Amino acid sequence: MTTATHEETLGFQTEVKQLLHLMIHSLYSNREIFLRELISNAADACDKLRYEALDNDALYGSDSDLRIEIEHDTKAGTVTVRDNGIGMSRDEVIRNLGTIAKSGTAEFLKQLSGEQQKDAKLIGQFGVGFYSGFIVADEVTVRTRRADAEEGVEWRSKGEGEFTIADIDKAERGTEIILHLKKDAKEFADDFRLRNLVRKYSDHIEVPVRMPKTETAKDDEGNEVEGSEVTTWETVNEAQALWVRPKSEVSDDEYKAFYKHIAHDFSDPLTWSHNKVEGKLEYTSLLYVPGRAPFDLYERDGSRGVRLYVQRVFIMDDAEQFLPLYLRFVKGVVDTKDLSLNVSRELLQKDPQVDKMKSALTKRALDMLKKLAKDKEGYQAFWNAFGSVLKEGPAEDYANRDKIADLLRFSTTYTDTTVQDQSLADYVSRMKEGQQKIYYIIADSFNAAKHSPHLEIFRKKGVEVLLLHDRIDEWLMSHLTEYDGKSLADVAKGNLDLGDIEGEEEKQAQEVTAKAKEDLVKRVKEALGDEVQEVRVTHRLTDSPACVVLSEHDMGFQMRRIMEAAGQPVPEVKPILELNPEHALVTRLETAEDDRFGDLARILLDQAIIAEGGHLNDPAAYVKRLNALLTA
Ligand code: ADP
Ligand code: MG
Repeated sequence: MTTATHEETLGFQTEVKQLLHLMIHSLYSNREIFLRELISNAADACDKLRYEALDNDALYGSDSDLRIEIEHDTKAGTVTVRDNGIGMSRDEVIRNLGTIAKSGTAEFLKQLSGEQQKDAKLIGQFGVGFYSGFIVADEVTVRTRRADAEEGVEWRSKGEGEFTIADIDKAERGTEIILHLKKDAKEFADDFRLRNLVRKYSDHIEVPVRMPKTETAKDDEGNEVEGSEVTTWETVNEAQALWVRPKSEVSDDEYKAFYKHIAHDFSDPLTWSHNKVEGKLEYTSLLYVPGRAPFDLYERDGSRGVRLYVQRVFIMDDAEQFLPLYLRFVKGVVDTKDLSLNVSRELLQKDPQVDKMKSALTKRALDMLKKLAKDKEGYQAFWNAFGSVLKEGPAEDYANRDKIADLLRFSTTYTDTTVQDQSLADYVSRMKEGQQKIYYIIADSFNAAKHSPHLEIFRKKGVEVLLLHDRIDEWLMSHLTEYDGKSLADVAKGNLDLGDIEGEEEKQAQEVTAKAKEDLVKRVKEALGDEVQEVRVTHRLTDSPACVVLSEHDMGFQMRRIMEAAGQPVPEVKPILELNPEHALVTRLETAEDDRFGDLARILLDQAIIAEGGHLNDPAAYVKRLNALLTA
């Protein structure tokens, strides 16, 4: 170790070691993607230089032709990827090539199972990036100089646990990555192979990707002239910003490859929408719906938003001002003439143009989903991955509430399966004659919803009920009160109102029963005292003896439990106990002696709470009472 070169050996962060190990193991059959990742990084580095040079022209020095170069040496078994982009300082090298800074990394690593195919997918979602070089190389050398620095840095590693870093002289700015190929990966040190990979994965990269081409001069008779070899650089990729090209000239494969570059995703997108807008606002957008949820979808600081360009100059990743939060899964690019090149995140927040673009892009994204919905299988994949994010929509975006409502999918008693694949329009098309409302129930799990006592009358009458069981559902429903002119009603709240589904006679019969049970109701209320808000008879039950309901405007059971779990104060609400007058237990209650009456009434209440998925304040007391009754 000499002080002159300031050489030191450092250990990788634990997460990097784990990731490297798993990646090498599970991505073996996809190993050619290393080139895409390194080119992608090189292109990002060129974008960053162009951006920083906006207010510091000097960064270009005498070399303003941004480019990526790929070379190989068959004999030595190396492949080199070089760029003249921004480069990295010593600190940046240590941070970027020695740690993983993404939030949620630890949780992500825990999900990996050692099963090759599953892990390959997960790692793909996480983003393989620079470290993918180690899938094909047993040693990687990075030589880099930041555009604004004098000193260069060399980083070397065998990908095993540590890396060595030293200061070097480097004349040109930018980064050069040299892969020393593993024995079984020497096939990549081949001109034909590399050219094919560049075209396959990196055609859409705007920066030219060049490779050397050696030609031998020929004499007049067409014979090669010995010793006349000339090597020139040849641009191998299309090298034009993909979104600038007319739609008709971009193939699906190119759209997909571009998605992988901007989204750092490994798998194909489900769909995309490419639009050029001219007029008062001028911009081009290319939006994608990913095929699966990224690992940080629910992280507060997870990446979201679009990649922003101003007149083809890259400005920033993750510009979140262009789409609402509930569309945070949408990835893409926006390129506009209407913003200044010096725009910052702070300025974006205040710019009225940005607001206009945001509402236009929101419509585009919703339209793209509407189109996707025509493909049942594709839409289901979307819904399974992002449905619970889209459900934030009605609360966040009142103006587009109807459009969002059309995109929602639910489990319902019609299918009785956990698959959320029924739309509100499907529901409405099946509504019974005389039915005015769309009914739903919210519970903690699908089974709790499906088996809720509240559904008994609905099942008996063949009236469909939406079975909601996502954490977000109560929040969603508190903002979605109407669809297609019909109100949405929680079957566990307020008085049961089946509207015109029930005939006059039925209603009268119910009133008669209610009258007949007035005494019982009074006695139960006295026995339960403050535990309940009210006691009444109901006809919503056919099999169960009792159930609890809330008043129309009370916070629902699900929301209460979520807030309690989060340690938030919850207003105290007492349930309404409803009794099924036809049930044997209720009949027995009527004839019970005073001392047993109280116990029996409490058991009915506790049972009803349990059936709702609720927790008893004193479960032991419930068990004791029940046992006493069983042995009596
Ligand atoms: P990502 O590209 O998703 O950020 P990578 O693992 O591919 O993750 O790269 C990690 C970081 O290393 C990049 O964000 C960048 O800061 C830095 N980096 C990688 N390659 C280069 C390069 N050629 N030039 C400059 N910086 C680079
Ligand atoms: Mg990368």
